[in-house]
Amino acid sequence: MTYTFVTLFSNLIEGYFKDSILKRAIDKELLEIKYLNPRDYSSNKHSKVDDTAVGGGAGMVMNPQPLYDALDDLKKEDENVHIVFLTPVAKPFVQNDAKRLATKSHIAFVSGRYEGIDERVIEKYADEVFSIGDYILTGGELASLVICDAVSRNIDGVLGNSDSLTVESFETQLLEAPSFSKPKNYEGLSVPSEYLKGNHSKIRSLKLAMSECKTKFFRPQELKKYKITTKL
Ligand code: SAM
Repeated sequence: MTYTFVTLFSNLIEGYFKDSILKRAIDKELLEIKYLNPRDYSSNKHSKVDDTAVGGGAGMVMNPQPLYDALDDLKKEDENVHIVFLTPVAKPFVQNDAKRLATKSHIAFVSGRYEGIDERVIEKYADEVFSIGDYILTGGELASLVICDAVSRNIDGVLGNSDSLTVESFETQLLEAPSFSKPKNYEGLSVPSEYLKGNHSKIRSLKLAMSECKTKFFRPQELKKYKITTKL
């Protein structure tokens, strides 16, 4: 998978790929990261990329010209590139989107800054548009990274143990059961005693019951779609 981050501030993104799982995936050549700065395409003599909003309104808006030229270049280089714009007004990104996008060969994330991107750019180039939640960030870089990270976990070979994918929250209507690490007792609190007895069928039943409880507490709406199997 190739990711191209179309951003005015690639420095904000680069650090994320310098450690841990995504770095290892880059080392294994499962991921390739590229950057495209719209400022490099600006025809303005001062390399300006934004201007005041036509029709009035607060703040600056990113101009179409640098983005049109940058994205034309990108599409010329790879006609299969899947172009994703980040904007708070779009549909929220969810786990199923992560799985679907993991099958693409090249995704470009276009980050807005200031008051956002001239709508004509989005109309012309967006294959998809996503929000990462109902709040306003200062730019799309964090949103791009969130989506890139979630997509990458679903690419074969990126996670050391791909089993972790199948038992995670959002794979079914139930959230994952609580997890515990060692020691078995810590500051007077023990892990559930059933976990210590080694009866895997009992552990599975207990985990299911705990998953149902957790879902009832955190996501009662999701639980309505699910047929409860244990007594809560
Ligand atoms: N004026 C815009 C509005 O009210 O909808 C907000 C612009 S925001 C300050 C600047 C950029 O940050 C956006 O163009 C978008 O790329 C990004 N952004 C902010 N919040 C986001 C969110 N929740 N999800 C995805 N992108 C977001």
